[in-house]
Amino acid sequence: MNRPALSVVVPCYNEAACLDILHARITGAARAAVGDDYEIVMVNDGSKDDSWPAMQRLAAADPRLVAINLSRNHGHQLALTAGLDLCAGAQILIIDADLQDPPELLAEMRATMAAQDADVVYAVRRKREGETVFKKITAAIFYRMLDRLTDTPIPLDTGDFRLMSRRALDAFLSLPEQARFIRGMVAWIGFRQVPFAYDRAERHAGETNYPLGKMVRLAFDAVTGFSTAPLRFASHAGLALTGVSLLLFVYIAIGWLSGSAVQGWTSTMLVTVFLGAVQMFVLGMIGEYLGRLYVESKRRPLYLVSDIAGPVQGSATLGY
Ligand code: UDP
Ligand code: MG
Repeated sequence: MNRPALSVVVPCYNEAACLDILHARITGAARAAVGDDYEIVMVNDGSKDDSWPAMQRLAAADPRLVAINLSRNHGHQLALTAGLDLCAGAQILIIDADLQDPPELLAEMRATMAAQDADVVYAVRRKREGETVFKKITAAIFYRMLDRLTDTPIPLDTGDFRLMSRRALDAFLSLPEQARFIRGMVAWIGFRQVPFAYDRAERHAGETNYPLGKMVRLAFDAVTGFSTAPLRFASHAGLALTGVSLLLFVYIAIGWLSGSAVQGWTSTMLVTVFLGAVQMFVLGMIGEYLGRLYVESKRRPLYLVSDIAGPVQGSATLGY
């Protein structure tokens, strides 16, 4: 296989307004780093705007650009997986399409990779420009909560912006799960991974494609994919509740023996409502895992490609 020194992989959803400048800036950064020996892999994740025609136009003019059109919107993590599957580079840079992650940092990231003999250089957000206070706060809480829940140490405040070696990418691609939390999966594979601090810029154009609903879904995939703590919590809660009911039993027995037992409507209601709520909560948690087991057991392909523009060097292992 003709392996370029560098692949830059970009998932794109409704990013038409960013693509020209994105292409120019990535090209500049890649050329400065490796000369002509690179490819850019753009994945159109079922955009509703003109992203695909724009990509086709760019691909027609640039032999180093491979544009992949998914059959529909599969979501950020699967679109990225498609690009990673199809890229061929010896080093792989993952970057967002909206230029919040400056492509020019490539030089420093490669230097860090070489100096520290690392397989993964992941970019840690020091500052986030132009994001809402709500997003910053929820993200900060999420990463810290995740860190406490999971057994795999997943770096804090880190997105998917990172540079990977081929062997790290191949290890990553061997993980078949459907519910993909890529930054966690990359942390899981191990090898030598080093942080790289940067200031996250504002979006070049358009607005975030991660509304609250998608953020919550990603958070659930992250927690259930990397932790069985919620299931453990269920059994711990059950144990604690058993302790509480034993105390209640003693209390009731004393009331009965001393003959001071009254109607007891309030306490009955309290216990019923409390136990009902806890049971629903625990059942719901078990359901989250069960639902994911169900999805995994179907073994569907992770994504479907509908068109490819440009010379593909990598091999399209489509899902499984
Ligand atoms: N994205 C995608 N599919 C989606 C949503 C987002 O491919 O369904 C891409 C998007 O084009 C961008 C990256 O994922 O390149 C990150 O999305 P966004 O910038 O909206 O997220 P934020 O930076 O606000 O967290
Ligand atoms: Mg963004």
